[in-house]
Amino acid sequence: MNAKTVVFQSMRARLTFWYTAVLALVLLVFAVSTYSYLARAARQRTDDSLSDTASSFVSNFNSELGDESQPAAEAVKEAARGFHLRDRQVIVFDDRREVVVASDTSEKLPFGTEWFTLPVAQPQLRNVFDSAARAGRAYETFFDSENAIRVLVVAVPAGRQHSYMFVVANPLHEQEKALGQARKAFYLAIPLALLLASLGGYFLARKSLAPVVTMGERAALIGATNLNERIPEPQNNSELGRLARVFNDLLARLDQSFSQQKRFMADASHELRTPVAVVCGESEVALSQPTRNEQEYRESLTIVNDEGQRLTRMVEDLFTLAHADAGEYSLVVTDFYLDESLNECVRSVRSLAALKNLEISYQPPKHEIAFQGDEPLVRRMILNLLHNAIKYTPKGGQVRVSVNDKRHHCEVVVSDTGPGIPREAQPHVFDRFFRVDKARSRDESLNGSGAGLGLSIAKWVAELHGGSIILDGSTGEGARFVISLPNPAQ
Ligand code: ADP
Repeated sequence: MNAKTVVFQSMRARLTFWYTAVLALVLLVFAVSTYSYLARAARQRTDDSLSDTASSFVSNFNSELGDESQPAAEAVKEAARGFHLRDRQVIVFDDRREVVVASDTSEKLPFGTEWFTLPVAQPQLRNVFDSAARAGRAYETFFDSENAIRVLVVAVPAGRQHSYMFVVANPLHEQEKALGQARKAFYLAIPLALLLASLGGYFLARKSLAPVVTMGERAALIGATNLNERIPEPQNNSELGRLARVFNDLLARLDQSFSQQKRFMADASHELRTPVAVVCGESEVALSQPTRNEQEYRESLTIVNDEGQRLTRMVEDLFTLAHADAGEYSLVVTDFYLDESLNECVRSVRSLAALKNLEISYQPPKHEIAFQGDEPLVRRMILNLLHNAIKYTPKGGQVRVSVNDKRHHCEVVVSDTGPGIPREAQPHVFDRFFRVDKARSRDESLNGSGAGLGLSIAKWVAELHGGSIILDGSTGEGARFVISLPNPAQ
């Protein structure tokens, strides 16, 4: 990118350029229209004045002709005598287009003005005579070597035999001078105005874009390690103020999700450490003696195997949540009966419940509940709740499962007669890695990782299907989880 491109890409330069360009256009239109107005007004004034002169000549001539009853040629001369106009030449032509009387051009004119020569011989003058003969009067502008001359020709009838052409001419140098001065003023004033405007525009653009520069500099210093910093917000509701707020909100969201990610990573590695430590410890103990009996090896390998399975489940859970966070989980939606899936889930955990001598009951709905969703995920959500109920309910307790078809949604309820969840822990049960009692989660784990991820996954699945999951009425008399799913029949 060369320097020229960079300058033009600078917003300040571009704003100034456009501002100056628009102003130049406006000034140009203004100058052209003002100039043409001035020129037209000057022309009109000249024409009016020529017309006045002609009118007064004609009335003089008429009165000379009528009052004195003298010949027309004499009347013309008499009438023309009164027209010793300083800067205006008057010539009267007769029928044969010969000069009868003309202004005395030998007279000295004031202010150094020169007489001009009327181009009598010019064929255009004859054309003007013809037009005047037809229309009574005609205007024309002639150009001699230096001047433009405005001419009015008036046809003056004088009885039946004669008619005269009264020509009054006015040099336009005064008007030309005035218009020239106006032109000069424009030539001088427009570039000066543009220069001042572009300087002012550049200064204004610089001033109004200064906050953007500051914001850019501050934003450039913000990275992953200091996402808590913010860019300065102008204290007004201008576009820049709103931009800064939107940017800061974005930073806040990024900061929050970064912190979540960091916490997730820290929690995950912390959770993974325990089973790995158990595997290492157990194998070290087993290997510390040169030989051990079979029973001892079996015990050690069983522990290693349990921890390995726990690790596998935890990695699977973490993998699911990582996919969920990245929005990459591809749902496989199928049609299935919710009550049937529920029934199968209950059946699959009966043996686990029996191990703890728990009574597990399932109350089916009155009618089948057709559902649309990712069946393996829905089963996983229900199994997570069932495993928790079995894991946390003491021996001899009860686990109840039911499903109800409400008007706009269906409700799956999993309740148990276990210790329930303390009131202060209830708001956090769906948080990742949250466990009321770490030892209890781990020791009695029948399934699941025991890392506090089961309920987070259940919540994610419910929400993915447009539903929700709540912990309801857990007051020390067991836990009651209610999953609410939208009814596809509605
Ligand atoms: P975990 O794998 O530890 O079971 P969960 O996310 O499934 O993780 O559960 C989070 C915590 O909620 C558990 O550690 C446990 O303390 C509590 N909890 C969940 N279900 C029950 C229940 N049915 N009875 C008592 N406590 C429960």
